[in-house]
Amino acid sequence: MALRNILKQGDETLTKRCRPVTEFNDRLHTLLDDMAETMRQADGVGLAAPQVGILRRAVVVLETNTPEGEEYVIELVNPQIIDADGEQEGPEGCLSVPGSYGLVRRPMHVKVRAQDRNGNFFELEGEGLTARAFCHECDHLDGHMFTELCDHILTDEELSAYHSRGEDQ
Ligand code: ZN
Repeated sequence: MALRNILKQGDETLTKRCRPVTEFNDRLHTLLDDMAETMRQADGVGLAAPQVGILRRAVVVLETNTPEGEEYVIELVNPQIIDADGEQEGPEGCLSVPGSYGLVRRPMHVKVRAQDRNGNFFELEGEGLTARAFCHECDHLDGHMFTELCDHILTDEELSAYHSRGEDQ
């Protein structure tokens, strides 16, 4: 596994729509392994392939709704959000926009249909931060950033008014 360079907002790659993954080969497996390692090293909870310069529909999300220390990485290839309900509003950040957070409204529960690294289809539900990460990462695959969904970037004072500091994705 290897760390990959995370592109920053302003890079044109982050505005492009990604193509579906069609080959579930070693190259994809290496990409997913590298993305997971890069996300963890950057202390993020999600990362999309275009953030490391690959215009393909693949993301990793850290499932944090687990006992402490038992977080695990979810791999979603060609993900589609097929159901969503509830609502949450909170600070959201992005590994491509380091140190900046904005208030973004997202569904509280999301169901995704995706393929695993071998091409098998599955469905998965996410709640809270995981639902937020599913939405955030799927937006990246269509060239969209969280900054398009918030009024403004929070000041330090505004951010500290929230219990959590926000999560980078
Ligand atoms: Zn992001």
